[in-house]
Amino acid sequence: MGRVLDKMLDCGLYNIDPSSDKSKQGYTCDLHTNADHFIYNCPSSGSGSFYNLQTMWHEFGHYYYGTVTQEKHGYIGWGSEDLVEIESIGLTCLSHSAIDSFDWSALQKKGYFDQIIYHQIGRAVASGIVTSFERYCYTTSDTLTPELLDSKWSQLTTEFGMPYLYHYSTIMHLYADPCYYISYGTSTVPALELFMKSEQEGMTSAFAIYQKLVDATNNGGFKTTLSQVGLSNPFSSNIITAIANFLTSTYYS
Ligand SMILES: [Zn+2]
Repeated sequence: MGRVLDKMLDCGLYNIDPSSDKSKQGYTCDLHTNADHFIYNCPSSGSGSFYNLQTMWHEFGHYYYGTVTQEKHGYIGWGSEDLVEIESIGLTCLSHSAIDSFDWSALQKKGYFDQIIYHQIGRAVASGIVTSFERYCYTTSDTLTPELLDSKWSQLTTEFGMPYLYHYSTIMHLYADPCYYISYGTSTVPALELFMKSEQEGMTSAFAIYQKLVDATNNGGFKTTLSQVGLSNPFSSNIITAIANFLTSTYYS
C-alpha cells in the first residue's frame, strides 16, 4: 500500500486542494494507462475536519484497489458496486491504525476514532431510509406528488431516528443511479466488521482480510467473495447484532 501511495504522490495523481470553484463531490477515476488512477477531492470545510480526512481514506481505498487490480489483471473495470465500496469504507474503518502517527491531542484522537464509528453507522441508517423511500416510490399505486413524497420522507426519517437527514431532493443518486443507495448499507456492514476485527483480532489480521478482498477483485459474486475472504453475510442479522453488541459494550456502555 505504501508503494502505491508513494507512486501517487511522486506522480501527482491527485487534486485535493480546497477551492470554492471546485465541485464538492470527490471521486477516483481510472486513467487507463500504466494502471494509473487519479483522486479528485475538495475539502468541504477547509483543513482540520475529521470528515475531510475520512474522505481521503475513502478515495484512496478506491485508488489502491484500482491500481493493484489493474497491475495484476489489466483493465477489468471496477466490478460490483457493493464490493467496491467495502474497499473504500473498509479502509476508512481501518484508518484508526494511523491515529498515533498524527500530531494530535488525546482528545482529537478520541474524536477521530468516534467519528469513524459514528459516520459509518449514520451511513448505514441513511441507506435504509433512502432505500425504503425508493422502494415505496417504485412500488406504490399512490399518485406521487411533491407533498406525498415530502410526507413519506418525513415519516421514514422519523421512523429511522434521523429526522435531520438531508432532503431526498439533494441526493443525486436518486436521479442518476436509481436504487444505488442500498450499496452504502450493504458495504458498511462488512466495513464495520473489519473495524471490529481490527479491535478484536488486531490490525495485522484485519489488514490481511482487507488485502484478500482487494486481491479477490470485485468481479465475483457479492456474498461468495465476502465468504472467501472471511467476512460475514451482511444480510444476516447475526453479524449486525454482533457489531452492535461489540460497539455498545466496548465503547458506549
Ligand atoms: Zn466510494
